[in-house]
Amino acid sequence: MDSAPSSMTRLLHPDVAPQPGGTPLTTPIYQTSTYELPRTAEAARIAASVAPGAFYTRYGSPNAREAEAMLADLDGAEAALLVGSGMAAISAALLSTVAGGPGGGLGGGEVLAQRSHYTASLTLLQEMLPGFGVPVRLVAQEDLAAEVRPETRVVYVETPSNPTMTLTDLRAVRAAAPDAILIADNTFATPYNTRPLELGVDLVVQSATKYLNGHSDVTAGVVTGSAALVAKAWETARVLGPVCHPFEAWLLARGLKTFPLRMARHNANGLAVAEFLAGHPAVRAVHHPGLPSHPQHDLAVRQMRGYGAMLAFTVADADAAARVMRSTRLCRNAVSLGGSESLITHPASLVFAHQGAASGVDPAMLRLSVGLEEVEDIVADLAEALSTVDR
Ligand code: PLP
Repeated sequence: MDSAPSSMTRLLHPDVAPQPGGTPLTTPIYQTSTYELPRTAEAARIAASVAPGAFYTRYGSPNAREAEAMLADLDGAEAALLVGSGMAAISAALLSTVAGGPGGGLGGGEVLAQRSHYTASLTLLQEMLPGFGVPVRLVAQEDLAAEVRPETRVVYVETPSNPTMTLTDLRAVRAAAPDAILIADNTFATPYNTRPLELGVDLVVQSATKYLNGHSDVTAGVVTGSAALVAKAWETARVLGPVCHPFEAWLLARGLKTFPLRMARHNANGLAVAEFLAGHPAVRAVHHPGLPSHPQHDLAVRQMRGYGAMLAFTVADADAAARVMRSTRLCRNAVSLGGSESLITHPASLVFAHQGAASGVDPAMLRLSVGLEEVEDIVADLAEALSTVDR
């Protein structure tokens, strides 16, 4: 072959170390918490190294290493850190950038972030970091670039954000904050649709629980970026201990092989369902970046290769939303997203538990994670459920 295979093709051919008896096509599951060490000074060198793969499973494992190599390659990053959940990835990325250093990590500076973030990220930003003395300023997502100040040291963004599908202009934020550490949650878009490191982001965080694994059977998270920043995130995770265990890492490496196939189908299904809902008389609004009616559709065209399968739609009122929720059959009522099956949730009821009525989430809004089913079946299910709603 004259040209190197693409990163999507490389996902199908991970590096698998030879084993006694042969070289398997998949890495065996290293179901051990610890490894026998050489009885030489080499043991101390392994213990002191960053992310040793065969030392102690809280530090890493051959299965985590394999998934990390695939995830770094997919993002075009120097390095990746795999941990036990998306929140663990976000916590490791944020805590490792705000901590330490003479005079405190931020040296009198601040973290700038959005008012709309995944609910647990918002708790970390709004309550926990300030509790540790870290100043955090939350601003309207669309105004983020304009809100950068000289004291802004870390910018934390999420695009599209959960659940409103609002976008952050990554290039504009980078240009406005050239010296800040820019961290982006790319869970909704995935590297298939948005490539944050190529747009100037320093650290990408993702819940691998969602599209990366894709089968609703793993909880995991990943941080990607430069080797230096990922090593700092690893050090934080080593201390806090949110391990991605070998079997979970193995399942993730397995799920990643079909990631590009699944994303192509998610993109097509997501857009088709958004278009169906946009034309339905019982639907007041549809929030999906692929629709020309999305207020930031131009930015979506510039920043996204496809528009994903997450969308929110608004019906007449909270009562109508409850009736739709009760009536879908194929679209299951469950939190999470990015799995093979379509899921529907009522964000206002779910975030109220953590943020109260101040969350501002419209009680007439429903969120859909469009799955991999035949799109006609998804549309038929939604049409049936919407028929229960008075126009
Ligand atoms: N980021 C986003 C955008 C999410 O939607 C979620 C979970 O839904 C997370 C992060 C957290 O991921 P996890 O549940 O794997 O901790």
